[in-house]
Amino acid sequence: MKITGIETSLLRIPADPLVQKQYADCGMVVAEVQTDQGLIGLGYTVCVGFAGAETVKSYLDTRLCPLLTGKDPSAVNALWGAMYRQDMGIRKKGIPMYAISAADIALWDLLGKATGQPVARLLGGTAGRIPVYGSGGFLPYTTDEILKEAQGFLDKGCRAYKLKIGFPEAKKNLERVRDVRKALGDDIKLMVDVNQRWDVRMAVRVGRALEEYDVTWLEEPVLADNIAQCAEVARSIPVPVATGENEYTRYGFRDLIEARAASYLQPDVQRAGGIGEVVRIAHLAAAYDIPIAPHLAPELSIQVLAAIPNGWMAEWVNFYDQGVFAEPPEIVDGQLQVPERPGHGMALNPDAVKRFRVG
Ligand SMILES: [Mg+2]
Repeated sequence: MKITGIETSLLRIPADPLVQKQYADCGMVVAEVQTDQGLIGLGYTVCVGFAGAETVKSYLDTRLCPLLTGKDPSAVNALWGAMYRQDMGIRKKGIPMYAISAADIALWDLLGKATGQPVARLLGGTAGRIPVYGSGGFLPYTTDEILKEAQGFLDKGCRAYKLKIGFPEAKKNLERVRDVRKALGDDIKLMVDVNQRWDVRMAVRVGRALEEYDVTWLEEPVLADNIAQCAEVARSIPVPVATGENEYTRYGFRDLIEARAASYLQPDVQRAGGIGEVVRIAHLAAAYDIPIAPHLAPELSIQVLAAIPNGWMAEWVNFYDQGVFAEPPEIVDGQLQVPERPGHGMALNPDAVKRFRVG
């Protein structure tokens, strides 16, 4: 089998009405790897708020499509290496890794379709059920809106919820966590996410006070580029730190691990390098007994979580529910079922593609 090209497209998907208080829409960059035998591998990556979506598509069109065309798609790891090493003048972080991730996801999907196996099985796992945590609680939400969103997840059987903090006033953050903890009770795991909004001093101040509310982790307390600062926060507060959604490849995660920057690592399969690279990151972290809590993309992350020894839970944000997938993933009893379908099991709904396509 040979790759005959990559067809790319760009979807602008309006966010869920509540999520629109923070993000108007998401950009889905779709990469369909075509073959001479008619099989098509579906890859995609999501740019939150549409940020950088056009440039990810452009990197796929101008750099990855010419590289992969004519190659045997079954050598997924070798092709990953070729994509990684193609442009030595561009560090593989950010935009190029979003694009490589989308291509890698398509190649794994293709391998699954060619062999009739779900990706989880190709990786040595089983097509089982994976626990999911509800995530959202963006800063513009009122406490009532957060509680309503959290209750929606609890009603689906989830037992863990994550909300945003990151206000400049320490007190405002702590009041929000206090109110949510009180309303949800002590049996629900509660995580808080700063999205890089603080400096070390603020993160340590609030991080120490958070212990009272039995918080499972404090996420991305400081700028993701500054690993030393994240490590400083981690060793100064009693609450575990989580990070990794803005880190890339095994090399970036090696740096986080060596610096002891976090107790939970959160690679994103649509950013960090795709399915294969997140498995390699997970195995590296397993040698340090660090759990992997993949960022977003729950419908793809479950394929990895089913196959690694140190998986935690998949993350579900109500970013969009617009019929994008033909057979959408669904939370039942707080879990997602890994599809038995070959590949990663996701297909786009043609009507939705028609409606949301902008490029
Ligand atoms: Mg986060």
